Amino acid sequence: MMQLTNYRGRQVVVLGLARSGVAAAKLFHDVGANVVVNDKKERDQCPEADELTALGISVVCGHHPDGLVTESTALLVKNPGIPYTAPPIVEALRLGVEVVSEVEVAGQLSPAPIVGITGSNGKTTTTTLTGVLLEEAGLKPLIAGNIGRPLSEASLEVEPDGWLVAELSSFQLKGTTDFRPRIACLLNVAETHLDYHGSMEDYVDSKAKLFENQTADDISVYNEDDETCRRLAASFKGRAFPFSVTRTLKAGVMIDPPYAAIRPAEDEAEDEEDAERWIVSRDGNGTERRILRVAELGIPGRHNAANALAAIAIALAAGAEPERLVEPLRAFRGVEHRLEYVGTFGGVKYYNDSKATNPMATTMSILSLSSPLILIAGGLDRGSDYMELLPIFRDRVKGLATLGETREKLARVAGLAGLTDVKIVEPVEDAEQTLRRAVQEAAAMAEPGDIVLLSPACASWDMFSSYEDRGRIFKQSAHTL
Ligand code: ADP
Repeated sequence: MMQLTNYRGRQVVVLGLARSGVAAAKLFHDVGANVVVNDKKERDQCPEADELTALGISVVCGHHPDGLVTESTALLVKNPGIPYTAPPIVEALRLGVEVVSEVEVAGQLSPAPIVGITGSNGKTTTTTLTGVLLEEAGLKPLIAGNIGRPLSEASLEVEPDGWLVAELSSFQLKGTTDFRPRIACLLNVAETHLDYHGSMEDYVDSKAKLFENQTADDISVYNEDDETCRRLAASFKGRAFPFSVTRTLKAGVMIDPPYAAIRPAEDEAEDEEDAERWIVSRDGNGTERRILRVAELGIPGRHNAANALAAIAIALAAGAEPERLVEPLRAFRGVEHRLEYVGTFGGVKYYNDSKATNPMATTMSILSLSSPLILIAGGLDRGSDYMELLPIFRDRVKGLATLGETREKLARVAGLAGLTDVKIVEPVEDAEQTLRRAVQEAAAMAEPGDIVLLSPACASWDMFSSYEDRGRIFKQSAHTL
């Protein structure tokens, strides 16, 4: 276990000045470490710097200075987004200085057991729902990590008899060494973030790190429907507690009767059958509990049912009574920008799914809604050809309004899928206007009874400061059509 006091009088370098960097800097400063914070951004873009300098912490902005990391540096705490090719990290690794992420620090400090949740898609939804379930079960959770407040900050506040519930990205996990969650959960693995990780292998390895330090006293929750999860599970050392929407499991959380493994192109019949499908948990002794019907869940779609199964598995593993889970599962309506119902305008339903930043997320969202559907998609180009969207475009999409860097690529895939209603929205003076125009184009294609869905399959940074920004503008545009 990391002793913060071991760093008293020693140099700790904090790289990256986001909220997690500020939290880590204060933590080590408070125990008397000699903290230096460095960020490549210019000082005027680092509003957090003033707060730290006022505390007497040295902050260097604008560049990575030579000699930042030396042999006498005891620890380098890096922001998860900074690549391992950044010069101070290369130097630290060369000198044998320990390089960790803020998550590692938090893991070492938390007096409470940790729930760690990762996956390519569904992390925030599952983490938020897990927090709600543990709260209702009286288990005193504190949610942090990728979801908002820095984990190390929360690790100082969580009660020892509570739970620290951490949403963790692959970036954060890559920077861990001894991090050991009592309950680890892997939701799914899709091809994403390859620009940062360089290869799929590195990405999968980072996700697998969540389970690396677990022992037989810990619990490993994973998605039995996902091939990569199944493969990784073979080497998990914690007690396996899988979940599945398509399989009947010996032990785990599942759906009875299960969904077909291959979805029919039109699954409205499936929606109706949800009323007869139960979410069931089965423990190692074969004891079965019916929890609630899928149709009673407050969040729509098969992927959200999977997220709910994961959250239920975690809650049961943490000791929640199954009957205390039912009401919160009914009441939970999801998180903003994730398949969020915006309203019905001109007889057309609008949904904001701005957080769908990769093709898998967009595919899942389209499958959760009935057709006919007009899709608004496109954004930052990470080099993919988006061909994986072809089947869903062919089977479930009536029209496409596409914008952003990937607009030509998506229009091409739509053309190959046989869509005739495709509008490429060329950029106009500002991004907001461009998105407004895309919404107008989609509205023009839609007839009463149709759905307009913003589910971009791409990150937002080519045009917007964040997916939240994009989602808010979409919602305003829909309201003011
Ligand atoms: P994350 O935090 O991993 O980005 P979110 O819960 O914020 O995940 O959901 C982001 C988007 O991913 C949603 O808008 C939805 O389109 C899609 N999604 C959510 N859960 C899943 C899942 N289990 N499998 C596939 N896609 C999902």
